[in-house]
Amino acid sequence: MEMDKKTFRKFGYKFVDWVTDYFSELEAYPVCSRVKPGDIRDKLPPEPPIHGESMDKIFLDFKEVILPGITHWQHPSWFAYFPASNSPPSILAELLTAGMGAQCMIWQTSPAAAELEEHVLEWLRQMLGLPEGMAGVIQDTASTATLVALLTARERATDFESNQKGIKRPLVVYASEETHSSIEKGVKIAGYGKENLRYIATDDSLAMIPSELEEAVEKDKERGLQPACVVATLGTTSSTAVDPLGPIGEICQRHGLWLHVDAAYAGTAAILPEKKWILEGVENSDSFVFNPHKWMLTNFDCSAYYVKDPGALIRTFEIHPEYLKTGLDEQVKNFRDWGIQLGRRFRALKLWFVIRSYGVEGLQRIVREHIRLAQMFKGWVGEHNNFELMAPVEFSLVCFRLNDGRDEDALDGLNRKFLESLNQTGKVFLTHTALKGKFTIRLAIASRLTQERHVREAWELIKEKAEELLK
Ligand SMILES: *Cc1c(COP(=O)(O)O)cnc(C)c1O
Repeated sequence: MEMDKKTFRKFGYKFVDWVTDYFSELEAYPVCSRVKPGDIRDKLPPEPPIHGESMDKIFLDFKEVILPGITHWQHPSWFAYFPASNSPPSILAELLTAGMGAQCMIWQTSPAAAELEEHVLEWLRQMLGLPEGMAGVIQDTASTATLVALLTARERATDFESNQKGIKRPLVVYASEETHSSIEKGVKIAGYGKENLRYIATDDSLAMIPSELEEAVEKDKERGLQPACVVATLGTTSSTAVDPLGPIGEICQRHGLWLHVDAAYAGTAAILPEKKWILEGVENSDSFVFNPHKWMLTNFDCSAYYVKDPGALIRTFEIHPEYLKTGLDEQVKNFRDWGIQLGRRFRALKLWFVIRSYGVEGLQRIVREHIRLAQMFKGWVGEHNNFELMAPVEFSLVCFRLNDGRDEDALDGLNRKFLESLNQTGKVFLTHTALKGKFTIRLAIASRLTQERHVREAWELIKEKAEELLK
């Protein structure tokens, strides 16, 4: 049965109330859901309802069945992975977006969506300090943006023939051994083949060593392979290491390689004058991606993708079916040709709301505070005898482990147990990685609601659990 206007309005208000209260009550929830596999499905009827149900009943089930199975990403004690912070202006924009339900594949299917996307990405370009002339488009995720970059790099490396005839000879992609898994996925899907992805060694700070890159490129050339693309990471997922763009870009120039920059998380930090150095050399990049859905308070999903040469991008992806032709195609941007999907969500609206509501200065303040809290935490870890810092802290991620001097294998087991004991409390959620083969605990501070007291409480808990374990 069609929901009447009165009910829609009633629940609309009710849900906004619920979200508002959710934010203030978040601390009462265990950060990580405690359900076991199958628990949620066991509570759902095996068959769909034949007759429509009341929103009262649906909402009740949302609270009783779904909510216990939710891991609370907006929790102030969320320190896992990287965050996916949302914010009130972003949520309100999502509501309007859902209400309009526009499908923004081409300019004509919503001129405001196309033009706002172009415009807001130009604002963002200025905010980060990316080179003038780089053009932006919103992709769903960094993984998709990187796939788009790899496909465009493939086409440019083969004079746009691979799209027509398939790949003729092996093309090679280079990334550091700390690169994100989406590079491997993209290399596989884009037809390079995993065998043709070279993992370049990293230095003590876990950043790519440029001389190792150049050596690998030359070796592949000697073997008759065709180097095509380098992916540099600004802020690796494991430890936020920063690959040196300057020297890497020069190598790419020398050898005619596409340079794609993956700044999914740390890109946001470039809105701070004191972090602009991470972009040194970015003028030699062909494409650049960062995720406002990670550290810029914009609801998942929203990934900002920039290219130096939109022509190459469009040549890789454009299609001209008769049913999508309009008389305006010469004058406007049709973003369907800037990526993989045809149908597109109106994602620019939430980004516009966020930037306007916080202002550049407001966003800077939040990012700067997260970095300050991470430095504070780093200081505590560094001063404590039973803890060891595992990587430099450039942004808001601290990598550390318990180390009481036992041998390496035993340390891995100890830290695994330690992390489990922390997360089992439900008071915090942290995740792990391996750095140079060593089990490492990551504490990422970038949730909008995280305040100093949450970081202090986390540290107290960490010390307490460590003492229990070492006793
Ligand atoms: C998070 C992350 C990604 C993947 O981001 P998605 O938007 O989830 O695809 C890629 N690269 C790096 C460095 C990341 O931290």
